[in-house]
Amino acid sequence: MSDSTLSDSLFARAKELIPGGVNSPVRAFRSVGGAPFFTKSAQGATLTTADGKELIDFVCTWGPAIHGHNHPRIKAAIAAALEHGTSFGTPNPYEVEMAELITRFVPSIKKVRMTSSGTEATMSAIRLARGFTKRDKIIKFSGCYHGHSDSLLIKAGSGALTHGHPDSAGIPASFARETVVLPYNDRAALDAAFAANPGQIAGVIIEPFCGNVGFIMPDAGYLAYLREITAQHGTVLIFDEVMTGFRIAKGGVQEREAIVPDLTCLGKIIGGGLPVGAFGGRADIMDMLAPLGPVYQAGTLSGNPLAMAAGIASLRLLEELNPYARLDTLGRQLVSAVADACKAKGIAVQTPQCGSMFSFFFTDTPVRDYDTALKGDAQLFARVFRTALEGGVYLAPSAYEAGFISTAHEGPAIDRACEVLTGAIRGL
Ligand SMILES: *Cc1c(COP(=O)(O)O)cnc(C)c1O
Repeated sequence: MSDSTLSDSLFARAKELIPGGVNSPVRAFRSVGGAPFFTKSAQGATLTTADGKELIDFVCTWGPAIHGHNHPRIKAAIAAALEHGTSFGTPNPYEVEMAELITRFVPSIKKVRMTSSGTEATMSAIRLARGFTKRDKIIKFSGCYHGHSDSLLIKAGSGALTHGHPDSAGIPASFARETVVLPYNDRAALDAAFAANPGQIAGVIIEPFCGNVGFIMPDAGYLAYLREITAQHGTVLIFDEVMTGFRIAKGGVQEREAIVPDLTCLGKIIGGGLPVGAFGGRADIMDMLAPLGPVYQAGTLSGNPLAMAAGIASLRLLEELNPYARLDTLGRQLVSAVADACKAKGIAVQTPQCGSMFSFFFTDTPVRDYDTALKGDAQLFARVFRTALEGGVYLAPSAYEAGFISTAHEGPAIDRACEVLTGAIRGL
């Protein structure tokens, strides 16, 4: 943005002191070009940059802001909790209420433990699966991102993929060998992996709908097959619903697809915009955790009262509003506007969408895994991204990130965004 002088000077100062100027890599805008803008405030569907420009936001703080930014009810809940103190280091009443809400929304979760991030949730779930089964190997899928712990940062999506390093430096080969990476949506590959590692697979972790390599949905029957084969082998099935939990449906993908995983990882929406994560599932597995069992897991700020209060308010709002049909209408409106504009212009595009999650892949190949996602024209995406940003619409700054919609987008924001995006495509 040509007018972002304050953002530019903040970025210059940040680059002196913070690696790449950012505290999470995708924020650096490397794959779409240009310098990132700094945000000074966020309200509803809108971000206001340090330079005072207003942007309709389809990143929604990478998922949590399903009710839009700074929702008055969440703000009030945090303010009320703040009166009582910011952290106690003992159990607090909010944790119990949060556990009751999560287990009610997601019935496969009989017991749940809170963490401070999604990364901790997946890392702990993997350790628990290993402790429970007394096996070492895990299966993950290429392009799925489960945070940045060592076992899981192998052929990962999100920023790792955006920056061309799906395999991070600093992970010992001996660790990586314990992680079997398979293509998503490929049953034969699953069969082969279980056959090649008999009695050795502790857990399979999957984003049941992928949101970190762009948005990809599973083929019909794929998740059911995964449930079947893991059950057969005594392997713990872990759904990473950090992104999809409470977003695809009140009970996540597992509710929509009627699959019962053994463990589920949560985050993002359950913090209402504050740092949080959680993992939970079968009681017999969860009871392996310390202090009941031998699998250690802990956190100074886990169950933090402010984060719990924000998350509780966010979940209660979902229950009250049941916004899923409305969000799906907004999602359809957005992707059909883009698909129509591309068609008129003769540009091939795939527009996977479910509810408030969507992607645009500029390719004529249907996208069903990591390899086909990479066929999307990232240069073309970057051009659309930049024109949209000029026009006041902020898409995720990478061709390999899902977009998010909030209830606050209903009305003028979504209409304006459709105009700007179709204009950007017409101008290609
Ligand atoms: C965001 C995300 C994580 C990591 O959560 P953090 O809070 O960023 O550590 C893990 N899994 C999935 C599917 C995610 O989208």
